[in-house]
Amino acid sequence: MDRIIGTYTTGLDGPLLIVIGGMHGNEPAGVLALEQLFDLLELESEKNPAFEFRGKLIGVRGNIAALKNKERFIKRDLNRSWIPSHLEHIKSQGASLDAEDKELVELLNCLEPFITSSSDQICVLDIHTTTAHGGIFSIPNGSTRSLELAKAMHAPVVLGMIEGIKGTSLHYFNQANWGDKMTSVVFEAGQHDEPLAVDRSISAIISCLRELGCIRSSDVESKHEAILKTYAKGLPTITQLIYTHSISPDDQFVMEPGFLNFQSIEPGTVLARDINGPVIAQESGMVLMPLYQKQGEDGFFLVQPVEY
Ligand SMILES: [Zn+2]
Repeated sequence: MDRIIGTYTTGLDGPLLIVIGGMHGNEPAGVLALEQLFDLLELESEKNPAFEFRGKLIGVRGNIAALKNKERFIKRDLNRSWIPSHLEHIKSQGASLDAEDKELVELLNCLEPFITSSSDQICVLDIHTTTAHGGIFSIPNGSTRSLELAKAMHAPVVLGMIEGIKGTSLHYFNQANWGDKMTSVVFEAGQHDEPLAVDRSISAIISCLRELGCIRSSDVESKHEAILKTYAKGLPTITQLIYTHSISPDDQFVMEPGFLNFQSIEPGTVLARDINGPVIAQESGMVLMPLYQKQGEDGFFLVQPVEY
């Protein structure tokens, strides 16, 4: 497995879109989507002479070792490790790196030359899937530009996640670390093993390319928008994170079966069980990312629809 899945440019100046698939090894949809998308772009430029592409698209694999094992991670969650002080530390450490730190250093070494040589806007789109069914969503990094990109993916936008967790790609690829031209956004494409999660990821990347200005609306097939809009139908447009249930292995956390993304719950609902007994909702809201796999540091999240 190579780090770089593909790159595409026609030589015209423009934005840089970096797409990461498989940041978690049990979430192959983003990788599969990128493999298909690079083929689609080559075909498009052959069959449509008017097709215009500005800037550059790069697709990379996130956690290669975990992708090989089809596990979320080997030793530690790669998407909780994007912390500048930690990265500085491991870059100077050399050979004694553990599995995820090795992935981090390789990813950075791979992406840095593309980022530093781009004079236009840059977006890092990180594609994930969830263990639960029922709902796609996008997560902005707190900046205005990121919110615009999140909205452009025709999925419910979840605000406040950046405060609910730490050390994700969203926290790292931002203006503070890389300057004004940098932004990032996450797309959650559905359940890990749904074949449609791959199609939705392709549509999300295309929506992102259009919002950035790499491709024109007239060159985008409406089926890509329709895939996202159909699946997001009935889901709230914008929600706010109101609660994060962090867990550790000692908690012996087990989610109650059957919860879906964006499922409404009332105060008193038994959401899970752990070493202290039932985990009961204190307020009303909607469940997001209920944990139905062994590895993970968050048991579930609660969000509420907001006007924006
Ligand atoms: Zn993930």
